[in-house]
Amino acid sequence: MRSQLSQRWVAWRQLDGTGMGATVARRKDGTEKNRRTPLPDVARQLFVFSGNECAWSDPNCTTRLVTAENGWVGEIAHIIGAEPTSARHEAWDGKDVDDLRHFSNLMLLCKVHARNIDDKPSRGEFTVEYLRAVKERHEAPYRFGLEQLESEFKDAVAGNIVTPATTMRRYFRWEGVDLDPAEEAEVIALVGKLADRVGTLTRQARQVLALVVKEDEPNCQLIERRLTADSTTLISICEELAGIEAAELYVDEWGEDLPRVVLRGGAVSGIPEMWGQLRMFATSEGIDLNDIIVNLDFSLLD
Ligand SMILES: [Zn+2]
Repeated sequence: MRSQLSQRWVAWRQLDGTGMGATVARRKDGTEKNRRTPLPDVARQLFVFSGNECAWSDPNCTTRLVTAENGWVGEIAHIIGAEPTSARHEAWDGKDVDDLRHFSNLMLLCKVHARNIDDKPSRGEFTVEYLRAVKERHEAPYRFGLEQLESEFKDAVAGNIVTPATTMRRYFRWEGVDLDPAEEAEVIALVGKLADRVGTLTRQARQVLALVVKEDEPNCQLIERRLTADSTTLISICEELAGIEAAELYVDEWGEDLPRVVLRGGAVSGIPEMWGQLRMFATSEGIDLNDIIVNLDFSLLD
């Protein structure tokens, strides 16, 4: 059996092989049909967000679009039908024919469900709004997964780009203490060092760190639930965080409390309270800590 990835390629080729966008189909009277083949990018997008499963969810259909034998049993179905006699065509605003083959108007179903929403006896059961909701619900987790994957990919390819704090004016104003310029420069340098260290972490480790700072040293269960990480992953992330002395796993030796991730000030030895300060600063200034810790934009302190 082929790998998941090569199955995807096979499916893309099959979707492509339908002569995407090349020709315009004609009706018997010679006029152009509204129904056009989806653009190749749209077909790929549909497949990526399908998880290789029919989008039907009521009841949930788990039919695989590319079968174990590499057969293609999926069908691209229109939510608003393209042809005048087709299902839900009356919902079309009649403006741009190409809207009908846009990603948002198409869903990937198994042949049974594609037939069910289009056939005359049954199609009246399914409104445009209902089908859009079915599509949305099915695609959402894959969209999220893809976004994650893309950001991981960007990180891996480009390296983590740290935007350093240069003046920290906003932070000093919020803190309300009067530092002379030399003292300010010292704090800015320390925060710069911290930013660089955080920038060496993987994105996932930065997400854990941001959560630990936000939630003030939460237990592992909460972290695993929020970030849908398993214990093994979390343990290795904790090692990563300990490596820059930002945080570490704390296990109560009496086993009374759940293991927690606790913060360490090592990365910023000159300002040990920095994590707590950052939390309070972000809260009172309405800044998302993720933008600083995960997206590495320390210029938000300026
Ligand atoms: Zn199905």
